[in-house]
Amino acid sequence: PLLLASLPDAPKIRVIVRKRPLNKKELERGESDVLECDAAASCLYVNEPKVKVDLTKYVERHTFRFDDVFDERVDNSQLYEQAVQPLVGTIFRGGKGTCFAYGQTGSGKTYTMSPLPLRAAGDIFSIMQQPNFQGLSLHVSCYEIYGGKVFDLLNGRKKLEVREDGRRRVQVVGLRELAVGSLAVLQQLCDHAAAARSTGSTGANDESSRSHSILCFALRTNTEPAKMVGKLSFIDLAGSERGADTYENDKQTRLEGAEINKSLLALKECIRALDADARHIPFRGSKLTEVLRDSFIGKNARTVMIANVSPNSCSCEHTLNTLRYADRVK
Ligand code: ADP
Ligand code: MG
Repeated sequence: PLLLASLPDAPKIRVIVRKRPLNKKELERGESDVLECDAAASCLYVNEPKVKVDLTKYVERHTFRFDDVFDERVDNSQLYEQAVQPLVGTIFRGGKGTCFAYGQTGSGKTYTMSPLPLRAAGDIFSIMQQPNFQGLSLHVSCYEIYGGKVFDLLNGRKKLEVREDGRRRVQVVGLRELAVGSLAVLQQLCDHAAAARSTGSTGANDESSRSHSILCFALRTNTEPAKMVGKLSFIDLAGSERGADTYENDKQTRLEGAEINKSLLALKECIRALDADARHIPFRGSKLTEVLRDSFIGKNARTVMIANVSPNSCSCEHTLNTLRYADRVK
C-alpha cells in the first residue's frame, strides 16, 4: 500500500512544461521539431526558424527554465508520479491541491489531464484503507466554465450560479457531488463528464477548446455533519490561443475569446500574487479564479501548472506564448 509518509510535501507552486511528440500528420508534412529539452538542467530551448528581410534563413534560440521539463519520452504515469502524486499527500494533510493544464489546442492538455483523477483516486483509496485514515470518504464533482457561465457536467449540463456566502466563501450553488467508492464508478463518471463537455454544432475539439473543465475531489469525514479534510482539483483549461479570438468576425466567438483571455490573465495574476505572498489576490478578475479562490488560499494550498507545448515549427508562436505565460506565473 502507498504510505502517506512516502509522499513528499509539494512546493507551493510548481511549474512544469510538457512537450508532446510530433504526430503523424506533422511528420507527413515534413515539419520539424523546434523544441529541445534538457531535463537535468530543467531547461527548454525553442529553436525558432526565422527569415531575414534579404530572405536568409536563421534560427533564433529562446531559453526557458522551469521547475521541471518533461520531454516526449515522459509518459503519463511518470508525469503523475512526479507532478501530481505529492498533491495526494497534500489533501490527507488537510490541504488543497490544484493541477492545471495550460496550452494551445492540440498541445496535449486533455491527454495529460484525463488519466490523472483516476490515478490519484487509486492512491487516495489506498491511503484510506490504512488505520489512521479510515472514516473518510471521497466525493467528486465536475463542471465546465464556458463563456463565463458554469455548467454541471454530472447533471445534464445544468447551468449553475456562483455565489459568495456570508463567510466570503464562493460556492457553485447546487453543484452535484457524488460519493465514489471504487475506480470503476469514478471511471464511469469521468466518461460521462467528458461526453457532456461542450461539443457544439461541429462536434469537434473546437468547442471544448473554448471551455475550462474542472474536476474536484473532496475528501470528507464520515461524521455528521461531514467535515472537509482536503480538496484536489484538476483543471483542463481552454485553449490558450482562443484568448486571441477577439479579432474574429463572429460576435459570439469574439465574446468567448475575450472571456477566455480575461480568465487566463486573471489566473496568472492570482498565481503570481500567491507566489509573492501578496496580501491582495485578485480572485474577482474572472469566474474561473472566483470559483478557485477557496482552493488557492491558506498555507496548505499547493498548485501545479503544467504548460503543454507542441513541438512542430508551425506552432512556434503559440508555443512561445505558452512558455512566456508559464514563465510569468512564478
Ligand atoms: P488539447 O487537449 O490540448 O487540445 P489533446 O490532449 O487533445 O490536446 O492532444 C492532441 C493530440 O495529441 C491527441 O491526439 C493526443 O492523443 C495527442 N497527444 C497529446 N499529448 C501526447 C503525448 N504526450 N504523447 C502522445 N500523444 C499525445
Ligand atoms: Mg482538450
